[in-house]
Amino acid sequence: MSVRRFMIHSSCIRDGYADIAGDVYGHIVRVLRLGVGALVQLVDETGALYNGTISSITKNRAEIALSLLPAADSGQTTAPRITICQALPKGDRIDLILQKCTELGAHDFCLFGGRRSVAKVREEQRAGKLERWRKITSEAARQCGRSDVPPVSWFPSALDAAADADQQLRLILWEGEREHSLKQTLTGREKPASAVVAIGPEGGFDPLEVEQFIRQGFQPVSLGSRILRTETAGIAILAVMQYMWDGI
Ligand code: SAM
Repeated sequence: MSVRRFMIHSSCIRDGYADIAGDVYGHIVRVLRLGVGALVQLVDETGALYNGTISSITKNRAEIALSLLPAADSGQTTAPRITICQALPKGDRIDLILQKCTELGAHDFCLFGGRRSVAKVREEQRAGKLERWRKITSEAARQCGRSDVPPVSWFPSALDAAADADQQLRLILWEGEREHSLKQTLTGREKPASAVVAIGPEGGFDPLEVEQFIRQGFQPVSLGSRILRTETAGIAILAVMQYMWDGI
């Protein structure tokens, strides 16, 4: 079984030991039932990675002896930084998208208000929504053992999101695309340093939005003849990209 990795704050590390309490304690002791002697990895907010052995467990605290100095992060991949540029979908579909795409290695999320997005984010709701979305990516990152938490940003429109793109490879998943498949677009091309994928809401992209993305260097690609739900599209393309570029 691979060594489980937990995110902690560097303030809980002192004199070669980590003092673990709260959610991380609950996950280690109650959910995973790891006991004294179990090997774990800890990663702090600076990205420093430690190997350690659980040395003692009490009712609500665990002590971990950090057996080595910060280990070189062997989890570092050379996969491109992939941004999911997602039009806000209805209800809690965004929770699933943030969670699953975090598990699949999305580097960050740019969420935007699509012209056909049913869900709207008023200015006064923005901070609260961002906080909730960031909590989802943080929890998903912790669960899958990532040493980084994908940031989430918000843009009021497709135009704003498209204008912000600076990734090397820019794709827009367009249900109206008939010429270029994902396979044709990705096969044979160099692994990019970074990529961004724009995905429409349930109602799809408005032609004007497709234009706006194309003007910012996004290539329209098709995911085939079946129409995927908006929450399926990002998961599908991330899995393909990680298969191609991260050797999963
Ligand atoms: N309202 C659209 C329709 O009925 O044609 C469907 C939109 S789909 C539910 C939501 C988004 O997922 C699309 O805007 C697109 O970004 C992506 N998507 C779904 N299926 C796709 C496909 N076969 N090819 C390219 N993109 C697709």
